[in-house]
Amino acid sequence: MLAQRTVLFKSSSIAAAWTAAEAAAACGDQIIDLTAGEIWSELAPSIREGAIAAINCSSNRYTGTLGLLKLRHALARKISADTAQSWSADEIAVTSGAKQALFNAAMALLNPGDEVLVPAPCWTSFPVQIGLAGGTPVFIDTRHNSYVPKLADLAAAVTSKTKAILVNTPSNPTGVIYDRSTLAGIAQLAIDRDLWIIFDECYGAFAHAPHTHHPIVSVAPSVRDRTLIVNSFAKSLALTGWRIGYLAAPKTVISAVGSLQSYMSCPDVIAQHALLNHLESGDAAFQLQLQRHVANARALGLSILSTLKSVPQPAAQGGYYFYLDLVGWQRRANRYGHEINADDVANVLLMDAGVATVSGTAFGDPAGVGLSYGIDLKLLDKALRRLTVALNTWK
Ligand code: PMP
Repeated sequence: MLAQRTVLFKSSSIAAAWTAAEAAAACGDQIIDLTAGEIWSELAPSIREGAIAAINCSSNRYTGTLGLLKLRHALARKISADTAQSWSADEIAVTSGAKQALFNAAMALLNPGDEVLVPAPCWTSFPVQIGLAGGTPVFIDTRHNSYVPKLADLAAAVTSKTKAILVNTPSNPTGVIYDRSTLAGIAQLAIDRDLWIIFDECYGAFAHAPHTHHPIVSVAPSVRDRTLIVNSFAKSLALTGWRIGYLAAPKTVISAVGSLQSYMSCPDVIAQHALLNHLESGDAAFQLQLQRHVANARALGLSILSTLKSVPQPAAQGGYYFYLDLVGWQRRANRYGHEINADDVANVLLMDAGVATVSGTAFGDPAGVGLSYGIDLKLLDKALRRLTVALNTWK
């Protein structure tokens, strides 16, 4: 008999979508996969060189549980530049990707029964990680407000058990970026109701003009002592497989996370050296190249998606996801006697159009579909053309 908690981590729906795409592809279908949240790219030269140098030096030992001290100093300098504030190494934990940083945050903050406000639709891991730490996610529906939480809705959901607000901007899956006034309002609510803020800015490097990404601690410096910043190089340097990210937070949090990681794992030593080399001697050229690729993919995608009937243009303000709002489309399809939810749409897109997408139900929304556009442009073009034909001619 397995532990009861295993019900909390039934396989992630994104992983399930990916597996379905793999299975269909194995049957010989020409499946184009728009489920994986990653950019198809070469490796940054500074990362490659840093990793090779570390291997040539026989770097093979554990590092400190919070990561290499030199890397924590380098990250402190990066975060100081990002936030226009001064950060020190003892406020930084290097983690095995943002996933570990988020899990650490939940483990360090939550007591059993504590509630965390989570604007939804939201990335699949947020509620599961909160649940595994004994907490309860309290979803704040953002669909009636262009996927940005209304401050009144957040405030109304606060109870004596609320411990934290999870803020993910730019958002996966919705692609929205919270503006300064939304962030300032969230910060004020956190102060008024004595809440922590878990600030996931993994997609901060991809803000599409005229939108800009703002760290919440820069908008409202007074929340710095109650904010945990989560970030990852999986997205900004296209390093999903290297598993390297960080948590920046008050020293007491980082010290607890250091103890926790001593029972879990320190991050991979080669990835740490590679990142250190990038931060010390890499330049911005590679990231700019990625940003240009994403901007081109976004422009191409938006122009194809503009031909969709009854589906508004996705926000796509940041990150590399198109989130299709199917409410109007479903209303139209239902008029012909079909009751169609997002799972049906994702299945038909996979089977009939050969395009793997993520059903909004994975994100808590039966009326949306998520598409990742970090893939090769030619394939993206093909996938979105097939998708628009399928949705426009649905019978
Ligand atoms: N936060 C968000 C919002 C994400 O979309 C993801 C990955 N899809 C992560 C965190 C985890 O990133 P990493 O690969 O660095 O663990």
